[in-house]
Order: sequence, then structure tokens, then C-alpha cells
Amino acid sequence: HKETLKQYIDLPTELKDGHTVKLNANIGSPSDVKQALENGAEGIGLYRTEFLYMESHQAPTEEEQFEAYKTVLEQMGDRPVTVRTLDIGGDKELSYLQLPKEENPFLGLRAIRYTLKEKELFATQLRALLRASVYGTLKIMFPMISTIEEFIMAKNMLLAEKQKLVVEGISVSDNIDVGIMVETPSVIMLMEQFAQIADFFSIGTNDLTQYTFACDRMNENVSYLYQSHNPAIFTMIAKVAQAAKKYGKKVSVCGELASDDVAQAVLVGLGVEELSMNAPSILGSRFSLINHVKEDLEILALEVTKMKTQEELMKQVNKFLT
Ligand code: PEP
Ligand code: MG
Repeated sequence: HKETLKQYIDLPTELKDGHTVKLNANIGSPSDVKQALENGAEGIGLYRTEFLYMESHQAPTEEEQFEAYKTVLEQMGDRPVTVRTLDIGGDKELSYLQLPKEENPFLGLRAIRYTLKEKELFATQLRALLRASVYGTLKIMFPMISTIEEFIMAKNMLLAEKQKLVVEGISVSDNIDVGIMVETPSVIMLMEQFAQIADFFSIGTNDLTQYTFACDRMNENVSYLYQSHNPAIFTMIAKVAQAAKKYGKKVSVCGELASDDVAQAVLVGLGVEELSMNAPSILGSRFSLINHVKEDLEILALEVTKMKTQEELMKQVNKFLT
């Protein structure tokens, strides 16, 4: 089977009717790019930069970060690389940063909330990214956005750093898309507004599931409520896809759901155009997706978003797949 899959490395993920879906890889460091390419990734859909910060006893310098981002961009050539700015807090700690002890860290000072507070740290990362942008196709993505103001503040900081670099005579790409992770219900309720100002959306279904069911993703006592395949989640994703389409913006899914075959059928049916997953899942996903017809998936998606339970949804999609 592995050899059969290898034939799909350089092929697009084209459904029977010609509709295409992009399959990208999630990475945590430059050393993951090789595996992404070997598995036919059409781009990097999520570069989790927190690993760069977690592997050392001090924050990576602008130079160290620049080298890492540049390496990834160069190795990917003209394939887009979506870099997520530091997503720390929640379950991820850093010894050298003074993250406050909080009662509910997942509802606390994490990700964009932290970097908007620690402006120096954020500016360093943004500068490194901007300097690396000329080495490939860079997209910048902010994690855990929950309000319009957060996006505007983060984007303004990015523009300010870009302006400074230009004044210093350092070249920066003029083609950097700036988007957000969709991980909180508040963003979905304001999707129409977000779709007018962000360049793209990537749905982080791991956190979105946690925040939708008010269910700590690490807490075994409530794991039965962590229902990533509940129709509630797909209905939210439908809303994201519809609003984004209206304003000509692209939607990707980069949480665990993206590599799940039951979910994939529904996601593509809902209008998700890109899926980003661990590299080893890409070829198998391509192999199964190409057997579908978009219209069938649309009908399936419409049907399952009307269902009442995760169990009912899973049963119906599995029946469709067999
Ligand atoms: C997610 O929340 O789905 C996601 C992709 O981000 P992370 O798993 O890194 O929190
Ligand atoms: Mg997340």
C-alpha cells in the first residue's frame, strides 16, 4: 500500500469532478520539512513556532528565528508556508517566561493574549518573520483570537515592524497574507466581520472543540464531552466557510479533525478548501479523497449538520464511506 501511495506525492488532490483540495503539513521545526515534502505536502498549513521557544532555556533571538523561518521557506520553494506566532500558555509552559499561575490556564493569558502583552517578545518574532518573508511564500497567522481588536492590534504591530524594517533598508515581501486561527466561538459569531479584515482562516478544531463544549481538552473526567465530530462543530465550520467564501477568503482546517477520514468528507462538503495535518497522513488522505464527487459531499454535509448527536453523524458518514 505504501508504494501505491507514493505515486500520489506530486499529484493534486483532485476529486472525480475536478474539484481540488489542498493538503498541507503541520510542522514544529525546520527539520520536519523533509518529511512533509516526502509525503506530498502542497504547503505548510501550520508551523507551530512554540517549539522554537520550548527547546531552549532562553527565548530564541531574532537571528535564530530568522534562520529557522528562512530555512523552512527556502526548502518549501513556491509552496506557501503558514507560520503561527507564539502559542504559549494553556498547557504549554516556558521556564524563562514569567507566565502567571492561573486557576484556568486554558481560559487565561495564552497565545495572542500573551504576545500582545509581552510586546518586545512579539516584535522580535514579527521582525524575524518579516525578514524571512522574501525567501518564499509566507503567511502569518495569529492563534487564539477572540475579538476583532486583538486581530487589529496584532496586525498593526506587524505593519509597524514592517515599516521600521523598510526604513532600515531591509527588504520585506509585499505579499504576506495575514490570517487567524478560528478556535473560539466568538470569532465564529462574528465571522462576517472577520472575513472582511483577515486574509485567511485556519480552524483549530482541537481548541474549538474544547471551547465549544466548555470541556478541558486535557481533563479525562469530561473527555466524553470532547466531541470533535458533534454536529455543533460542523455547523460552526459551515458558518466559517460560508462567510469566508462571501468575501473571497480561504478556509483551512489544521486541528486533528483534518486527518480524520469521516471528518474530511464532511469538511470538504462544507466548503473547506485546505486541510493541514501530520505529514504521514497526507498521502492516505489524498488517496481516499479523490474517490469522491464534491456534490455528493455537499449533500452529505448538509444532511449531517442537521443531526442531533455525534453518534448519529458518525454512523451516517461511515455508511456513506463504505
Ligand atoms: C488546534 O487547536 O486545533 C490547533 C491546531 O492548535 P494546537 O493544537 O497547537 O493548540
Ligand atoms: Mg490551538
